[in-house]
Amino acid sequence: MHFSSNAKQFVLLLIVGIVLLLGYVHYSFFNERLNGVWFDSSNRDIPVDKDQRNTSLSKSIFRSREQNIISPERLLYKQPSVLAGRTDVVAVTPWLAPIVWDGTFDPDLVDTIYKSMNITIATTVFAVGKYVLFLRDFLETAEKHFLVDFNVRYYVFTDRPDDVPSVNLSQGRHLSVIQVPGSNRWQEISARRMEIIQTAIERQISREADYIFCLDVDSKFHARWGAESLGRLVAVIHPWFYQATRDHFTYERRPASTAYIPMDEGDYYYAGAVFGGLLEEVYTLTKVCRNQLEEDARNSIEAAWQEESHLNRYLLYNKPSKLLSPEYQWDDKKTKTKEVKVIRFSSVVKNYAEIRPNV
Ligand code: UDP
Ligand code: MN
Repeated sequence: MHFSSNAKQFVLLLIVGIVLLLGYVHYSFFNERLNGVWFDSSNRDIPVDKDQRNTSLSKSIFRSREQNIISPERLLYKQPSVLAGRTDVVAVTPWLAPIVWDGTFDPDLVDTIYKSMNITIATTVFAVGKYVLFLRDFLETAEKHFLVDFNVRYYVFTDRPDDVPSVNLSQGRHLSVIQVPGSNRWQEISARRMEIIQTAIERQISREADYIFCLDVDSKFHARWGAESLGRLVAVIHPWFYQATRDHFTYERRPASTAYIPMDEGDYYYAGAVFGGLLEEVYTLTKVCRNQLEEDARNSIEAAWQEESHLNRYLLYNKPSKLLSPEYQWDDKKTKTKEVKVIRFSSVVKNYAEIRPNV
């Protein structure tokens, strides 16, 4: 058989075409797996599956992934030591996530690194009913201490938009008020936060910020809270439980609840008053917790500490990439301990009977 050179070229092109097509089909198949259940397969029964992640919200809408830690040339700072450092506290978890304590990081170095990324940090805060009274102190102290010189967008969720105080914000900082329904049960206000944050991320925040912190309003900042707090998934160790053994943690202990944690499990007891991370991570967290809160409600069970219980369950199986020490969530009712060198953020003492809609 004799082929003309045209026919030879045609056959060659056909073969190249088939190879490219096969390559594409192969790539799409694995890419699909990467976007789906693949990275959750190590989780046990926590239902973070393809349906929980990004079905209504495509991955592409999130602005950023965790970036490389780039330090500018000729930035001078103290040499890090391999041998000397804090020895009175543990600054790393068994899965090698840092636990942020004063003295374990260089504040100027971390701020410089993150400032060059030109990021925006969303901060959600709920002020429903009489809790609007906490807003002024919260915002005024945040302007003094919270991610100073960064782009910060506060999202205030309230049923009383007219009572949101006007606070002078520094350059690069912005505040949105989002109206939400009131309630005559504080448990419901507290528990619905997950759903409301999830919805706000979908509708607005995902387009406006890179990182997010979700904070309690009944608190004040007292000292620097900087870029050392930023990470993929960030949780804070509860100030009342960091010296306790896990069987004393106030996890939800009834197997009937989706927040259930057995007595012999648990890493730390995390506070519900502070969680954060990349928008995409916090979106998944709020979505899973919201679904579990709703499943419990359908089964007429309310976890011991509402969303805090669900948060703890989520974080037990979806390990945070960075933990903030109790410096970042103290309580004015608690005497300072020697390992806490600085109190950065602390809950104020409040009269529950006066401030909450029910007791
Ligand atoms: N919250 C609110 N109105 C209420 C009850 C709670 O806005 O009537 C919000 C508020 O942001 C508050 C958070 O839910 O900081 C958690 O409730 P709270 O601080 O009372 O719980 P605690 O920290 O005392 O456990
Ligand atoms: Mn609180």
